[in-house]
Amino acid sequence: MKLTLKIKLLPTDEQANLLLDTMKEANAVCNAISDVAWKEKIFNNFKLHHRVYHSYKATFKLSSQILVRCIAKVADSYKLDKKTKREFRPLGSIGYDSRIMTYKPNDIVSLWAIGGRIKIPFVCHNRNYLPYIKGEADLVYKKGKFYLFQTVDVPEDEIKDIEEFIGCDFGLTTIIATSDGINHSAEWLNTYREHRQKVRSSIQAKADTSKRSTKRNCRKLSKRLSGKERTTANLINHTISKSIVVSAKEQGKGISIEDLTNIRFTSKRRNKKFRTKLGKWNFADLRAKLEYKALLNGVKLVVINPAYTSQTCSVCKHIGKRTNKHFKCNNCRNDMDADFNASRNIATLGRAVNHVEKSNDMCCSIAHVYSGLKPIPSLCVGG
Ligand SMILES: [Zn+2]
Repeated sequence: MKLTLKIKLLPTDEQANLLLDTMKEANAVCNAISDVAWKEKIFNNFKLHHRVYHSYKATFKLSSQILVRCIAKVADSYKLDKKTKREFRPLGSIGYDSRIMTYKPNDIVSLWAIGGRIKIPFVCHNRNYLPYIKGEADLVYKKGKFYLFQTVDVPEDEIKDIEEFIGCDFGLTTIIATSDGINHSAEWLNTYREHRQKVRSSIQAKADTSKRSTKRNCRKLSKRLSGKERTTANLINHTISKSIVVSAKEQGKGISIEDLTNIRFTSKRRNKKFRTKLGKWNFADLRAKLEYKALLNGVKLVVINPAYTSQTCSVCKHIGKRTNKHFKCNNCRNDMDADFNASRNIATLGRAVNHVEKSNDMCCSIAHVYSGLKPIPSLCVGG
């Protein structure tokens, strides 16, 4: 599986200046190439190369490989549409491949820069992925620091044949409630976010009544705060997904999650307060993290249709009533935590989906899971 590894470079001041010069020169050439492409309407990589390579090789201080990559980058940028001229920021990222970048022992990377190769030490938090470095990297300059966003190709664990699933119910204060009875909650995070929201509103209020320079500072501060919030949320998603995948692997279970594509419109989430909070939480990111971690660890992950998972009784499969935090069933008197009930249904559906996938049956056979009682056609995989 291909992942992107974040590698932080530790250049000396002199090396840092060389990197900055290289980035500026590369982006200057990108802008020059974009000029030609735009004026002469040449958007094809091959034709553009033919048109600019030799003259720009002579006028700019770049290695052939960097220049080749710049031409490809410009051609690529016009692929989306040819209606606006593309411009490149002076310190925008630049691409490196194995011809201009070599990883050396003892955490050192050798990069081409103007004036020749430079050897720079680096640090990386995911060291176990370092042996799988493959292909290209982007050199990125952010807040005074240099990073390589390096592609790695990590071998996946073989997915084992399993029966049981951990059901994951995505929720409000509880981000995920599992059928193992574990609540991965973030109550403190919601409090923190509400606090942050207040801080941002007060910054906004100040900005509205201030002079232009203050307005600009307020905008910067507000931006920095939301960036910090994103980092925290990202870390939480990492922690939750890791803990669920590790637990599934240890127990020899798979993971069953809800298809969130239409999550905002399902009956369970109709309430307005829920929607605003849900809008703020990045469930798509959480799902992506669960998926890749599951794949890396050989844990089977299935996606189920969440319809009725919160109204169905996980004990007797009748439709019951969900009132805020509780689920009550009039048929079997089941009374349990609403999220836990839903997560148990999601686990059951995960098992069913897995069976269907294994036996290549029609998706209707899922109804068998809940058969004999009130049929719930929408519990089919296909919806
Ligand atoms: Zn029941």
